[in-house]
Amino acid sequence: MRTLITGAAGFLGSHLCDAMLSEGHSVVGIGNFSTGSLDNLRHLRSEPCFELIEGDVSRVFDCGHVDYVFHFASPASPEAYTRLGLETLQVGSSGSFNSLKIAKKYGAKYLLASTSECYGDQLEHPQKETYWGNVNPIGPRSVYDETKRFAEALTMAYRRYKHVDTRIVRIFNTYGPRLHMNDGRLISNFVRQALQEEDLTIYGTGEQSRSFCYVTDEIDGIVRLSRPNVNGPMNIGNPSEVTVLECAKLVLRLTDSPSKFRFLPGMEDDPRRRCPDISEATTLLGWRPLVSLEAGLRLSLKYFKDAMVREAAAV
Ligand code: UDP
Repeated sequence: MRTLITGAAGFLGSHLCDAMLSEGHSVVGIGNFSTGSLDNLRHLRSEPCFELIEGDVSRVFDCGHVDYVFHFASPASPEAYTRLGLETLQVGSSGSFNSLKIAKKYGAKYLLASTSECYGDQLEHPQKETYWGNVNPIGPRSVYDETKRFAEALTMAYRRYKHVDTRIVRIFNTYGPRLHMNDGRLISNFVRQALQEEDLTIYGTGEQSRSFCYVTDEIDGIVRLSRPNVNGPMNIGNPSEVTVLECAKLVLRLTDSPSKFRFLPGMEDDPRRRCPDISEATTLLGWRPLVSLEAGLRLSLKYFKDAMVREAAAV
């Protein structure tokens, strides 16, 4: 099996490269490093079954014959996709077209990395796949939310009209090694701030919630979804929900940090609650997450400490 992974140098893309290689696939990764990093793939430098193309999937490309396409290229943190708004819209639209055309041309299976952001500031809780969402189409987050919703529509259209064997994963907040230290996300910000003994920045009241999935669980769910005859969309995320403040307190306890909280204005359109209903994934894939937030944060701390040392050395 030759597998194409777009966004291969990204946080999830790079873990997916590892997973596919360990399943015996040969992997061709493509990325433009706009938010990904070569560091995430350095360990694959001498891997004979891995090939890396530096390129932008928003432009037409051809990687040769592949049996599977995973479309993971996209800025994904609110800091990154609001800074790279037009690029985010491009990769979700043209990038999805181009990767679907590859799947069609070579008769490959296709898996789209979609997002819980499709549910927006949800009015149903927890979120089931059947919920259509509550998205502001013109707000600051729309560059990400709407391009992912478009990519879902396009993927379904390729399934209906072009008979490409597609599936869609809706990824909820995920963290772990290779999460970029400076991408502005809750976990990376809080851990960095706690380790540097700076105050933790809480946007709004901190009563808003998220459900954080450790990266090995997330990848396991995605790999399972890639195999059988289910096409999704399917939620893959950890259903144990915490508020931002609870998460901040946990990070302080695990890092034994003296940092305090600094309350800042809330982000525009920040979803108030987010929690996946994973009954589909449990029933159809036999999947459920195994790593608790506390265990996952403990596993991530060494990576974050090393990343901070590397960052300091690079300055
Ligand atoms: N957040 C926060 N302080 C930070 C970073 C994030 O309070 O330094 C909040 C943010 O407002 C949101 C939640 O944490 O309610 C998760 O944010 P993140 O950027 O990790 O991902 P999102 O789920 O919003 O895409």
